[in-house]
Amino acid sequence: MQILNKFIVATIPLVPRPIVRYFANRYIAGEELIDAVNTVRFLNSQNMMATMDVLGESITKEEEALNAKQAAITTLKTITNENLNSNLSIKLTQLGLKLDKEFCFQNVRDIVKTAAELKNFVRIDMEDSSCTDDTIEIYMKLRKEFTNVGIVLQAYLKRTETDAIMLMNNGLKNFRLCKGIYIEPPTIAFKKKSEINQNFMKVLKIMFENKAYVGIATHDEELVMNSYKLISDMGLKKDEYEFQMLLGVRPELRSNIVKDGHRLRVYVPYGHHWYKYSIRRFKENPEIAGYVFKSIFTRNTFK
Ligand SMILES: Cc1cc2nc3c(=O)[nH]c(=O)nc-3n(C[C@H](O)[C@H](O)[C@H](O)COP(=O)(O)OP(=O)(O)OC[C@H]3O[C@@H](n4cnc5c(N)ncnc54)[C@H](O)[C@@H]3O)c2cc1C
Repeated sequence: MQILNKFIVATIPLVPRPIVRYFANRYIAGEELIDAVNTVRFLNSQNMMATMDVLGESITKEEEALNAKQAAITTLKTITNENLNSNLSIKLTQLGLKLDKEFCFQNVRDIVKTAAELKNFVRIDMEDSSCTDDTIEIYMKLRKEFTNVGIVLQAYLKRTETDAIMLMNNGLKNFRLCKGIYIEPPTIAFKKKSEINQNFMKVLKIMFENKAYVGIATHDEELVMNSYKLISDMGLKKDEYEFQMLLGVRPELRSNIVKDGHRLRVYVPYGHHWYKYSIRRFKENPEIAGYVFKSIFTRNTFK
């Protein structure tokens, strides 16, 4: 990231929350479950699937994890009751990973069990590298009991190819593949865009060769086009993969992917804990971060 962009992003914490919220609106469905339901209903009407996410991460009290579990279960039940085409994405640090691994496992198990009863699916998001081993361990333990759960792997991590092969050798073949959003050291992560993209395509090919189902999660046109080519070269059927994009990011590209006849799922975050998620999205988009920065000097506009 250029020095100016870095500076702009570093100043965002100084921006009053109502202003941050104004710019965050494009990335989140809203604070209430009904907001997410309406967003998913709209996406479904556009021939797009969804994955709903109750915002929150890195909780510090067991009570918060139990509340997050309850919100996830309520979301799953609402998806069924409202007849929505959506599954659920969860973050393990929101469910107590950093408090106690076994407590976290039991919370996730309750969510995945509810999803199984409702014939739905849970995707475990991947967080920073301090969580990778535990996330994989919990996922593998869950898969001994349930089939309706998948994991995310990040193309920027050098270990990802090995992780993907290890999981597939254990018969676990349902992935979301993304670049990765957290700041990781060069000892464990590729830093250059070209290297990350190269690894993304390398791992995607290995996954497809092993007959894995992959959610190709990117807004990068180069990766989308290279994936199209790989899908066509390997003769994959439409139901053997899907594209995935975040709410509010490149809606024109997502419409094109659907027009081109591919399945597409939109990540729909909602809830009161929107701040950290939105800051990560601003960091990917210096233009928006710039608007937020400029608004420090025009506060009155956003009361
Ligand atoms: C469905 C989904 C789930 C994800 N789950 C995880 C996860 O579990 N763990 C994890 O570490 N990461 C996750 N990510 C984030 C991912 O790792 C990347 O950080 C993010 O998608 C940006 O990478 P990109 O592939 O879109 O490529 P980039 O090169 O970053 O972006 C390509 C282009 O997309 C546009 N763009 C990208 N981001 C934005 C933005 N915020 N606002 C406006 N335009 C933008 C820009 O035009 C940019 O040039 C997920 C992403 C998606 C789509």
